Amino acid sequence: MAAKEKKRKGLYLSIIIVILIVFLGGFFVVNLFEGESPSIKTRPLAEYVSGAVSVTIEASDSRRGLRSIRAVVVQNGSEKVLLEKLYPFNGLMNREGTRFMREEIQFDPKRLGLAQGRAVMEIRCRDYSMRSGGDGNLTVLRQETTIDTVPPSVRSISGLHYVNEGGTGFVVYKTSSDTSDSGVSVGSEFYRGFLHPSSKNEGMYECFFPIPYDFKPETQIRLWARDSAGNNAMSPFHCKVRKKKFPSDKMVITDKFLEKILPYFQGRVDFDSTGKLEQFLKINREVRVFNDRTLSEVRSKTAPEHLWEGSWLRLPNAATMARFGDSRTYYYEGKAVDAQVHLGIDLASLANSAVPAANSGKVIIAEELGIYGKTIVLDHGMGVASLYSHLSEIKVSVGQDIKKGDTIGITGQTGLAGGDHLHFAVMVQGVFVNPIEWWDQRWIDENIYKRIALIN
Ligand SMILES: [Zn+2]
Repeated sequence: MAAKEKKRKGLYLSIIIVILIVFLGGFFVVNLFEGESPSIKTRPLAEYVSGAVSVTIEASDSRRGLRSIRAVVVQNGSEKVLLEKLYPFNGLMNREGTRFMREEIQFDPKRLGLAQGRAVMEIRCRDYSMRSGGDGNLTVLRQETTIDTVPPSVRSISGLHYVNEGGTGFVVYKTSSDTSDSGVSVGSEFYRGFLHPSSKNEGMYECFFPIPYDFKPETQIRLWARDSAGNNAMSPFHCKVRKKKFPSDKMVITDKFLEKILPYFQGRVDFDSTGKLEQFLKINREVRVFNDRTLSEVRSKTAPEHLWEGSWLRLPNAATMARFGDSRTYYYEGKAVDAQVHLGIDLASLANSAVPAANSGKVIIAEELGIYGKTIVLDHGMGVASLYSHLSEIKVSVGQDIKKGDTIGITGQTGLAGGDHLHFAVMVQGVFVNPIEWWDQRWIDENIYKRIALIN
């Protein structure tokens, strides 16, 4: 009886030991040979790298912990080390080992001696698993980029440029093939150039740029170019600005005038005063600024090619009532109350005259626009636009293609207008310029067509 009991106890013990061995063995195998690869996190490199960038690398392994991390950049078969770290095995089962790492490294093409062109950053991370013959689980992350540290080149090919204050400049220039964006800068303003339509002349651009009526002689006018990597180049070119004297004008505001123009703005403008003069001043200042901003923004909708051709049309049989650049001082009851500059040309013909499109283009604005009243803006491509305002009738709609001479509207006196006339303006890249140049066939031939002819 006792012997049987002893035997049975021994058997139980053996079973328990076997279970324990199997259990512990399983535990060790599952843990030592765990198959969970470490994870690597980093923000992707930009498509192009032009200078030193800092890259943050994070890696983690929640099971056996991190063994090593190595980051290299591979270019043309050779390898440059960015980061190399080993993490010691620490404590039983690496309990005190490294589970998480974060390093900021400098990816500096110059210091690394990288060449221009394609490069691959490769990050390899291993853990302390016993897998892969004891080397651990491996995670590899590859990121491709293009090294470009050389600024683009840009140079004018259209010789000497004489531009008028308040006028339009036009330059033809060539850039290196990696250029993504280019144009002309006038002081701190950047104006975009457009690739010449003929594909056989790759890298040839045309740029229309405005010279403001209040141009400061010390302002620099230069060509600029940027490549896809963000490298910038600035290059001077021959461009002389001719000083222009703009006339000044005295505008007398009478109560009769105020009574005539204010009703148009009731319900369109939030007046904070009931005073007639105050209301006029709000229109002439704030509404004007707001409207001009709207007009300036349409340059983003311009076509990348010339939509126009030849000389521009002027409203037929019309007298010039106000010129471009007129410095207007507004007087009310003998006192100067406001000053504005007139940035278009006022043309008066018979009331309700048909308004022809000055040249071919596309309608980008056809609406009532504050001080301008019923207004049409035509885009003529490459940042050039014409504006027709104070119309009594708009005969076109946005998006419509217009031929030179098409009747687009009827003159009137909507908006801030004392009588029936057409306020005609030309905008270059969102800035008002003197329309007179655009009516002058000789100016167009000398300053635009002759230069375009240099390309072919
Ligand atoms: Zn006007």
